[in-house]
Amino acid sequence: MPRNLSEHFTLEELVASQTAARKGIDNTPGVTAMRNLKSLADVLEEVRVLLGGVSIIVSSGYRSPALNAAVGGSEKSAHMQGLAADFTAPKFGTVLQTARKIAASGIAYDQLIHEYGSWVHIGLTAPGVKPRRQNLSIFQGTGYLPGIVSKPM
Ligand SMILES: [Zn+2]
Repeated sequence: MPRNLSEHFTLEELVASQTAARKGIDNTPGVTAMRNLKSLADVLEEVRVLLGGVSIIVSSGYRSPALNAAVGGSEKSAHMQGLAADFTAPKFGTVLQTARKIAASGIAYDQLIHEYGSWVHIGLTAPGVKPRRQNLSIFQGTGYLPGIVSKPM
C-alpha cells in the first residue's frame, strides 16, 4: 500500500528509480532523509497549487549515495539528503514555463534548475538553513548558466 508523505505524493514515487531497479541498488532512505522527504513533499504540494493543481511527475527524488554515483549526480547533490526532486508538469506547460512560474513565486527553494530543457530540479535546504533561491539553467555543453533561460543558440 502506498505511503503518502502528503496529499498527492507518496514515499514510493519519491524513492523510485529505474537505475536502482536495473542495477539492484538499495535506495532506502534513512531517518534524516525520510524527514527531509516529508518536507520535500510539502514543497511539491506548494508547487502543485502554484501550477493550478496539475499532476507533477517526479523522475528522481531521493538517491542513496550509491544511486547518486550510478546516475552521475553531483557529489554534493541535495538528492542524497532527500532534499531535491526532478520533475515535469506537462499539463501546466513546458519545462521552461514551469521553472519560470516557480522562480516568480515565493516558494522557499534553495536551488531551481532548468535542466537540459527536459526537467525542473528543485532543491531545498536542510531544516534551519536559509534557502538561497538560486536560479540556474544547464544544457548539453554549457555548464550552469545564471537564471531560468532557454537554450542558447
Ligand atoms: Zn535534480
